[in-house]
Amino acid sequence: MPVYYECQRCTACCRWPGQVRLSEKEIARLAAFKQLSEFEFIQQFTRLTTGKRGLALLDKPNGECIFLEGNDCSVQAIKPQQCRDFPNLWNFPGFEKLCKALPTIVSSEEYKRRTSGDGAAG
Ligand code: SF4
Repeated sequence: MPVYYECQRCTACCRWPGQVRLSEKEIARLAAFKQLSEFEFIQQFTRLTTGKRGLALLDKPNGECIFLEGNDCSVQAIKPQQCRDFPNLWNFPGFEKLCKALPTIVSSEEYKRRTSGDGAAG
């Protein structure tokens, strides 16, 4: 039976170093959510990825995600896929020491449902 990690919204992953890559669709969705044109959104909230092949979200000067407000993600409803997929569809060795997500044994169908985007908690 698969193990699904249930996000506890501790926001640790919103604060550690790295980059959140954005697809064109995500940029369009986030821009609409912020009531900005895509051009304005890109100017205000993105930077080039380290490989200079795409765009990533800006960080605040303290390193946390530009959309983190206190302990809340201000774009939770439409947050990027990369954020949504952690830690179930990607993670790194030892992530459990930093991430408070609770491992839960679920059926294969439930795992598929939760990681496909419908009803994913993270
Ligand atoms: S995925 Fe883990 S580190 Fe990120 S907010 Fe959820 S519990 Fe915290």
